[in-house]
Formats: sequence, structure tokens, C-alpha cells
Amino acid sequence: MKTILFSTAIILSFFSKAQLISYTHYSKQITMTTNTISQTQVQGTMFELPKLPYSYSALAPYIDARTMEIHYEKHHGTYTNNLNAAIKGTELEGKSIEYILSTISKHSAAVRNNGGGYYNHNLFWSILSPNGSEKPAENLEISKAIIKDFGSFDEFKSQFSQAATTRFGSGWAWLSVDASGKLFVSSSPNQDNPLMDVAEKKGTPILGLDVWEHAYYLNYQNRRVDYIAAFYNIINWNEVNKKYLEAKK
Ligand code: MN
Repeated sequence: MKTILFSTAIILSFFSKAQLISYTHYSKQITMTTNTISQTQVQGTMFELPKLPYSYSALAPYIDARTMEIHYEKHHGTYTNNLNAAIKGTELEGKSIEYILSTISKHSAAVRNNGGGYYNHNLFWSILSPNGSEKPAENLEISKAIIKDFGSFDEFKSQFSQAATTRFGSGWAWLSVDASGKLFVSSSPNQDNPLMDVAEKKGTPILGLDVWEHAYYLNYQNRRVDYIAAFYNIINWNEVNKKYLEAKK
């Protein structure tokens, strides 16, 4: 295993705005370990596993620490590594994850599964919080939009829970913003999401719930419904509101 130092200047020049955000915690050099690249400067970019904004135990008892640790380090970590491996040396190297997902029908299954897995988990961690709440504060734009587009918060919650419960096998439930700025609920199989050109209904996801068994099985076993109910205690609505405003721009 050799340690390689990437020049930040070279790497940053290839970054999109979205990618930059996840790289801002790096100062002068990004260090990575690999056994495949020789010890020279590499002109390329890598997607990086973002730091969790809370500890593994912070979301307990709704999501337990062991599940968080395995989910983040092993599952999300593997999607990240596999995405980097899948795009290395291809035309996708250096492209934003949003661009990759929006053209996913042209890419390999490895890019689809791992690119989706990378993006979906980035979003998932960001919309969870130990200080979360079931409902958004009434003065937030997302609160007004939910009432406008669903009729009530309870109707939104009912549709979202239904989408999460009835997604057969592995997948995600989503709250997204469509091209006209309207909110909608959907679900997707595997690591697909509404940004993908293959999605049944396309939009920008602002809230997502991972309903793969790896997300809940240690604590909830087969009781997905209990995991979905617990999710409403740890939603970071301020972050969802931020994503809503960004998606509406
Ligand atoms: Mn997952």
C-alpha cells in the first residue's frame, strides 16, 4: 500500500460547486491509500465519504450506534470506493454526482448502484439530527409548501410512510421537488433516486428514507414499520427546508 498525496490545486480545478462542499474540510493536501496507483501526482478527482455531522450514538434510540457505524463506514464507504473505481479513467471522472445521476441510463450498473448509493446516503445523513422533530416549524417555507401541495402535514406523512412501507425489497422513499416547484412523494428500488433519468417521476430529492434492511435490521429486525415511525423523531427540517429553497431556485 502506498500513500499518495494529491495536489489540492489540481484537484480543486476539476470540482463542481457541489463536490467542493464535501471537500472543504481538507486543508492543503488530500491523502489517500491505494495499491494501484504509483506515487506520482494524479490529475483526477475522487468522491469522498463526507463526515457525519453527529456521533454514531447520537440518533439512539431511534437508530442505534452499531447500525450507524456499519451503515456509514461499511455500506456508504463501499459505495464511495466503488463509485470512484467505476468512473476512474472514464469520461465521468471529474463530473458532479448530479450530472452522473441525471445521465445514468448511459452508464454501467456499477455507476448506477454506487453513484446512487453515494448520493443517497450523503442526503440521508444530512437530513437526520439528534435534535430533529416530527414536523417542520410553521414559519419554514417547507412547512407552508407541504400544506399547499399535500393539504396537510398528516397527508404528507401518510403518503411518505406508505411509500416507505410498500417499497418491496430494498429501496428508498423520497420527498422531492418537481420541475414546476411542486412537492411530491415517491419511492425507488435499490439505490435509484428521482435525479436519475430512469426515474418514474423526476425531481430533486430533499428528504429521503433508506428502507434497505441494512438500515434497520439490527434494532428492528423485520419491523420496518416501527423503523419508519421512529424516523419522524429525528428529521432535520431546517436542512430539508434549505434543500427545498435550493431546489426551487
Ligand atoms: Mn443504506
